[in-house]
Amino acid sequence: MSEKQPVYVLPEHVSRTLGKDAQRNNILAAKIIADIVKTTLGPKGMDKMLVDAAGDVIVTNDGVTILEEMEIDHPAAKMLVEIAKTQEHEVGDGTTTAALLAGKLLEHAEKLLDRKIHPTVIVKGYRKAAEKSHQLLQELALPVRDAIILRQIAMTAMTGKGAEGHKEKLADLIVKAAEQVAAGREISLNDIKVQKLKGQDVQESEIVQGLVLERERSNSAMPSIVKDAKVLLVDFSLEIKSPESEAKIAVSTPEQLDSFLASEERYLKMMTDKILSTGANAVFCQKGIDDVAQYYLAQAGVFACRRVSKSDMEFLSRATGAKILSNLHDVHASALGDAKEVEEKTNGDDHFIYFRGCQNQRVATLILRGQTVHVVDEIERAVKDGLGDVISTVKSGKIVPGGGAIEIELARRLRVYAKSMGGREQLAIEEFAHALESIPESLAENAGLDPLDILTELRKRHEAGMQGHGLNLFTDTIEDTLNAGIVEPLKVKTQAISSASEVAMMILRIDDVLVSKRGAQQMPRYEGMD
Ligand code: ADP
Ligand code: MG
Repeated sequence: MSEKQPVYVLPEHVSRTLGKDAQRNNILAAKIIADIVKTTLGPKGMDKMLVDAAGDVIVTNDGVTILEEMEIDHPAAKMLVEIAKTQEHEVGDGTTTAALLAGKLLEHAEKLLDRKIHPTVIVKGYRKAAEKSHQLLQELALPVRDAIILRQIAMTAMTGKGAEGHKEKLADLIVKAAEQVAAGREISLNDIKVQKLKGQDVQESEIVQGLVLERERSNSAMPSIVKDAKVLLVDFSLEIKSPESEAKIAVSTPEQLDSFLASEERYLKMMTDKILSTGANAVFCQKGIDDVAQYYLAQAGVFACRRVSKSDMEFLSRATGAKILSNLHDVHASALGDAKEVEEKTNGDDHFIYFRGCQNQRVATLILRGQTVHVVDEIERAVKDGLGDVISTVKSGKIVPGGGAIEIELARRLRVYAKSMGGREQLAIEEFAHALESIPESLAENAGLDPLDILTELRKRHEAGMQGHGLNLFTDTIEDTLNAGIVEPLKVKTQAISSASEVAMMILRIDDVLVSKRGAQQMPRYEGMD
């Protein structure tokens, strides 16, 4: 055997960052992301202008939009983007809070790393702190007593957003929409469609019972309105796309061509006959509808619309009770849905299809209007935050005071809990508490107030038992924010804490980053990630 043979475990093209370096790199990336979104937090937060390669511009204050649209390379930073997405999906609001919290949890963990506390110990402390936070939040949350709260929830979500100037009107619409689709606590975001419409004042926005789609019927020879609509939904193409016709056909004589075309037409006739035999008079297709099929449908007085998006098909199915069919064989009267009326309306160049008197009464469309695309887009983002918050409040029936009040109270109680734990975990739980306080701190900072003064005063008041006291940024004073109508749903906080702490813990456990240089498209692989 030779002296010392080097052992090559990793192929040459793999670069590797180990231990402390890997950890610090990841933490740094997360902190940078948190810092970017931090200045947008709260009603006095600033906006970001996102410009893409084509020069298109988005001006927004919405955490998840900023993170999604930003070009991000670092893997740990990408994990923070994922938290915002999860938050958006689960609640629809609180995305800035969640990303900021994750960054702060890591920033505070770094302090402990500097003091030679092992990541495993920090992770353990953080896990306990997150669990305790959930228990405390359940204790601290208050029941929704009246409908005014829902309006306040919607307003709090939209304060300082693009919708600010119209938040009262929009909050009313949001609450109305929620009331229309709720049955007790049962409510789903899927029952409310938000439809943007450019060109009129925001104040002209409205709630329509039933469904409104931004589509037009596929042929103007079709009726623009059908009463007592029998709705058929298909997600297969009403064209000739059978494998036979895709194959090459050798046509050598005009007679052969004629007979081929005749057979295609026969097929389309058979298909439309089958549809008509069900009694359907309103047909919605996710794919295309052949001209010949359109002709037959129009002749029979059927309203038909092609290339309806998948999400609109799902809305239609919920609203009318129709099944979405994937095969001509399944086309049957029993799969049809009902609406009292299906009507196409035109507004300038825009076409809309209204479904009134749907079988399912608990479906509503919130039509948002605004003068320009940028305005309507930013209003939509704010309205979706408000809608998400109101729906999650109806679902859980629980609220918490906003303006940082709940975070300060949580931090205070976590510190008490930390003392009972002792040891090094105590330190980690205390840093977790500290990270939570970054919410009121940033709210103050973004409003041009002294964050330290505010934090000190808030802590003092909470020590004195004023557990609802937070920062009121309407008046720049500290008071009971619940009384001031600054209210948030419980779920925004539980979700933000769960996902932020999960990601912080995951990043802390990584001590090795292996990046394959080959193929820039490939996702880097992690070691130590579970
Ligand atoms: P997120 O994406 O996390 O929802 P926002 O920019 O919507 O971020 O800010 C939410 C924070 O702003 C919450 O902590 C909420 O309590 C706070 N907030 C909302 N309105 C007010 C207000 N009038 N005064 C003080 N804080 C407010
Ligand atoms: Mg918000």
